[in-house]
Amino acid sequence: MQLDRALLRELPKTDLHCHLDGSLRPETLLELAVAQGVELPTHDLEELRRELVPPKGGDLPGYLTRFRWTVSVLQTEAALERVAFELGEDAAEESVWYLEVRYAPFLHLEQGLSPDAVVEAVLAGLDRAHRDHGIRTGLILTSLRTDEPSRSLELADLAIRYHDAGVVALDLAGSEDGFPAADHQEAFDRVRHADMFVTVHAGEAFGPQSIRQAIHDCGANRIGHGTRLIEDPDLMDYVDDHRIGVEVCLTSNVQTGAVARMEDHPFPTYLRRGLRVSLHTDNRLMSHTDSTKELLTAVETFGLDADDVRRLLLHGFKSTFLAREAKAHLLVQAGLEIDRLLPSSDPATQR
Ligand SMILES: [Zn+2]
Repeated sequence: MQLDRALLRELPKTDLHCHLDGSLRPETLLELAVAQGVELPTHDLEELRRELVPPKGGDLPGYLTRFRWTVSVLQTEAALERVAFELGEDAAEESVWYLEVRYAPFLHLEQGLSPDAVVEAVLAGLDRAHRDHGIRTGLILTSLRTDEPSRSLELADLAIRYHDAGVVALDLAGSEDGFPAADHQEAFDRVRHADMFVTVHAGEAFGPQSIRQAIHDCGANRIGHGTRLIEDPDLMDYVDDHRIGVEVCLTSNVQTGAVARMEDHPFPTYLRRGLRVSLHTDNRLMSHTDSTKELLTAVETFGLDADDVRRLLLHGFKSTFLAREAKAHLLVQAGLEIDRLLPSSDPATQR
C-alpha cells in the first residue's frame, strides 16, 4: 500500500499542538494588516510567505519574532473569530477530526479587549467551524514562562471560568532557559484542582530537567515537543508508564534548531519504544505545514509503514483532552475509519 499524500490526507487525524497566532492563512494576515493599518515587512503575498518561514537551523527567538506581526492583527473580536474559524476550516479540510487550538489571551488586549472577550471570540470561531464542517475542537490557554507567576494565576482563573464553554487545559510556553516551569506551579495546581488538563512546552530548547519539572511540578498530562526526552532513559520510562502524551512537531523542531536535521529527530525511537507520541503542526503559517505534511514527512524520513501510521494516529486520539466518554467514542469511530482506509498487515496490531 502506497502511503502517499492523498491517503494520508484522507485518514482521520488530530492536531493537538497548534498555535492560533502561528496558524493564520497568509492571505488573511495580509488582508487584516491592510484593513487595520498594521505594518508588515512586505505587502507582496509571495514575499510575505517567504518572510514568515524562518530558515532551517535558526533559533527559538528568531522563530518567535514572526509572531509580532500576527499578534498585531489579532486585537479585535472579529479578527480572532475569523482566524479561529479559518483554522478549524483548514484542519477539517484535511480530515483533522479533532483540533486543540492554543494561544496566550493576554497578548490580545492591546486595543482594549477584556480577557473574557478574547476567549469568547475564539470559542465562537471554533463553534462556527464545528457547525459548518463538523470538526470537534478544544481550546488551550497558554501562559508564558517569561510572565510573572501571578499572571499565570490570572490565566488559570480565566481557563476555569470557560471550562464548561470549551477551554480544556492550561499550557506554558516561551523561553525555557532561565524561566523554569516550577515558578508557575500554583497556576497549574489551580487548574488541576478544577479537574482540567495540563500541557507544558518542555524539552525543546532545554534538557530533561525541564520535562521533569513540567511533569512533577506542573502535573503535565502531555509534553509539548519533548525533543530532549531521549537524553534521560529513566524519565522516558516514566513518561511511557504514565502514558504522558508527547506532542511532536517535526518541522518546527528543525526550524528552531531543537534538532539539527530531520533525520536526527528522536521521534522514531519514541514511536518504536511505545511512547504515546503523536504528530502536530505547532505553527501552520511559520512552519508552512499542515497535519498531512507532518505525517508525510514522518513516513518519508523515518520509513513508517501502515501499522506505524495507524498506531501514531490512534495515539493522537488517545491523547485528546476530551472527557473520557467522548474520547472513547471518537477513538472507536477513528479506528473504524483508519481500518477501512488502511487495512492492517498484522491483525495483532489492530487497535
Ligand atoms: Zn508550541
